[in-house]
Amino acid sequence: MLEKFWYETGSNYFPEPGKIKVATCGICKAQMEVERDALRATCLAEALAGRKHRCDYFFCSRQNEAWHQRIHCLKMDVYREAINRHDLINLEKMKKAAKKEILKLLKAHATR
Ligand SMILES: [Zn+2]
Repeated sequence: MLEKFWYETGSNYFPEPGKIKVATCGICKAQMEVERDALRATCLAEALAGRKHRCDYFFCSRQNEAWHQRIHCLKMDVYREAINRHDLINLEKMKKAAKKEILKLLKAHATR
């Protein structure tokens, strides 16, 4: 099983209006911005169907920055490798390298 760290990838979040007061970014741990009672499509299926519904839209203001997206990719790669479980030695190596890069990126960018 993977540690919780690798699942923390959320940089946007769409709860029902008024349900959540504050949310923290899974990638950089910053408090997310929020657009209350927004009318949005919250998943691909809904977007393709041209439908929207009311939600509170939480998002990390850094989510489009390259380093933020890089951390997301690194975590997703490890997650996919863990699901496939072809090569556990490779998974450990991947985790080690990914974590090193993630911590470096967070140190350089997330402490602003
Ligand atoms: Zn973030």
